Amino acid sequence: MSELRFKVVEEAIRRKAVCLPATEERPSEMFGKNVFDEEKMRKYLPKKTYESLMETMKHGKALSREIADSVASGMKQWAMDMGATHYTHWFQPLTGGTAEKHDAFVEHDGKGGMIEEFSGKLLIQQEPDASSFPSGGIRNTFEARGYSAWDATSPAFIVDTTLCIPTIFIAYTGEALDYKVPLLRSLQAVDRAATDVCHYFDPEVTKVFSYLGWEQEYFLVDEGLYAARPDMVLTGRTLMGHESAKNQQLEDHYFGAIPTRVMSFMKDLELECWKLGIPVKTRHNEVAPNQFELAPIFEETNLANDHNLLLMSIMKKVARRHSFRVLLHEKPFKGINGSGKHNNWSLGTDTGVNLLSPGKTPQANLQFMTFLINIMMAVYKHNGLLKASIASATNAHRLGANEAPPAIISIFLGRQISAVLDKMISSTSDDAIEFDEKTGFKMYGIAHIPELLIDNTDRNRTSPFAFTGNRFEFRAVGSSDNCGGTMTVLNTSVADQLIEFKAQVDDRMARGETKETAIFAVLKEYIRECAVIHFDGNGYSDEWKAEAAKRGLDCETSVPLIFNQFVSPTTMGMFTRTGVLSSTELQARAEVKWETYTKKIQIEARVLGDLAINHILPVASRYQSMLLDKVYKMKELFGAKYETIAAQDLVLIEKISGHMAKIQTLTEKMIDARKVANKIENEREKAIAYHNTVAATFDEIRYHIDKLEEVVDNEMWPLPKYRELLFIR
Ligand code: ADP
Ligand code: MG
Repeated sequence: MSELRFKVVEEAIRRKAVCLPATEERPSEMFGKNVFDEEKMRKYLPKKTYESLMETMKHGKALSREIADSVASGMKQWAMDMGATHYTHWFQPLTGGTAEKHDAFVEHDGKGGMIEEFSGKLLIQQEPDASSFPSGGIRNTFEARGYSAWDATSPAFIVDTTLCIPTIFIAYTGEALDYKVPLLRSLQAVDRAATDVCHYFDPEVTKVFSYLGWEQEYFLVDEGLYAARPDMVLTGRTLMGHESAKNQQLEDHYFGAIPTRVMSFMKDLELECWKLGIPVKTRHNEVAPNQFELAPIFEETNLANDHNLLLMSIMKKVARRHSFRVLLHEKPFKGINGSGKHNNWSLGTDTGVNLLSPGKTPQANLQFMTFLINIMMAVYKHNGLLKASIASATNAHRLGANEAPPAIISIFLGRQISAVLDKMISSTSDDAIEFDEKTGFKMYGIAHIPELLIDNTDRNRTSPFAFTGNRFEFRAVGSSDNCGGTMTVLNTSVADQLIEFKAQVDDRMARGETKETAIFAVLKEYIRECAVIHFDGNGYSDEWKAEAAKRGLDCETSVPLIFNQFVSPTTMGMFTRTGVLSSTELQARAEVKWETYTKKIQIEARVLGDLAINHILPVASRYQSMLLDKVYKMKELFGAKYETIAAQDLVLIEKISGHMAKIQTLTEKMIDARKVANKIENEREKAIAYHNTVAATFDEIRYHIDKLEEVVDNEMWPLPKYRELLFIR
């Protein structure tokens, strides 16, 4: 039985790093080679087409059919020059991954042969069958049509020999069936609202961009060991496994020297990324053994998100070339850190100002404080929804464990900013601000922020939403997630908040207040109102959990109940006011979340049941019979004395029996719970039942299996152990 385990472990030990062929090219030369970027557009498109397309990409102008035909023809030519034979619309269904259906560039030529063909119609719009993607009831099977349509703001690229065209995915009836549509709408909403607010400070601003810099954490596991773990193959995580004696306690992995085999994988991956225009920059070992991180330079949010999705799929391919499997699951191993995807987020103007960067003048600082405080208000009002946007069956294992913030959203600001807020609140508006013709606003005691902020050591790793000097870092996002979900919520909440802010300031101005006084007064009210979201202390502590509950922050920990936030009146109001999601779309999204939760837990329950009953119990049973056999022989040999001589064996036999019995009854209990839950029709109720009655049995079943792993003969144990999975490269 354990022959397989020994074989794969041996293979993993012997596995050599793949030697990459030397490349003469510098990263800057390789960058964007496989992307239909501006440079290629200039080369392959007629001047008029190029200019028109630029208008669409930069200012959202509609693309005419004639121009689309011309773009398609240039794009096809470029793709064929690059050796591409197929094209696909590349979209982001609610499954969380990406979807693609490849078509060759061929059509009948009418003379019995074939020609390469790719029209503007095929570029702009396709009709993939939507019935096999989650839609939360929007799409009934009798109206299965869905449309994918080109998102011209994200450039086309080539993977292998396929031209990939980033697209949105909507239902026949117009509702969004993907993550991209709401993201694009939210970016537009925050652009409009933030630009309006910027006009208080600078009339030159015409556009505000949302920026995202994600940091992707992941694990690597040898492919042979991975294949020998059905739980990893089917659920992405280990459902059992006794802790390794050494794991991360020596803190010797973080930022350590990167193992050769891993380094070779990373280099290969980076080459692929650069060719695809993904500006990856940072790589390092993470805290847990075999855990790593990759981060790019931040980009405009829609593009950054496409790049993250592309990265996740490229990683999986490249890992295979190196006989690794990449684990993007948030918690592949119990007892050591899980993986997240820190979302560094900021807003910036087309005049080149980062709105989250303290400025050099008092006026710039008032603008900075305006955005900062409005963001705090947005996060405060929608803290439950932000949590819902990152909640999932898989991320639930990570949140609240000792490596990630609890399932409570709060904001860390640091000493300097906190001091500024205190100062603002304690001043009367008259003594705090004054308008100076030459320098703009004077905010007494606040103008010194830029100098103070040079001290950037003031960091807090335990906060889910931390201000880090010129951006916020949302750290609760799961490693396997589409960041689009979270970014949509964040940008929309901020947009909605900025609209309200502007209305309040305008109202005060209409009543005769000066602009500065009005802004200052509203901000002061906000600081008081959202004070409870601000927490600079230790987010991992138990005191914080109690304190947060007292403050009225959302402390719900059950994932299906957290999803209620998607359909709460506050959420519905915010999304419909801003036009980002309709109530039908929100209801549908919530349905998909509940459904996906149930399915994930259902799969885990099945795998756990199978492994427990037909992998673990038979082995434990065999080992136990060996012991029994020995005891019988002792009895024959030693007569009555055997009881003393075989005392330890008898204890062990009993111990094994105890664990086996527990595994058996708990597994039966789990299967029964599943049967009951499966009969529930309502997706929400079903998810709740899966959470409360099915998932609730996992830990205990696992506990007894892990106890058996400790006592059963190592040679018989069928599954690769933690010490083997985590330390072999
Ligand atoms: P950390 O110290 O948190 O690991 P890094 O230097 O690795 O930080 O940067 C994390 C990410 O934050 C990178 O993708 C970086 O480009 C991004 N980032 C930096 N400044 C901004 C900004 N103003 N807006 C958005 N992302 C940013
Ligand atoms: Mg970071």
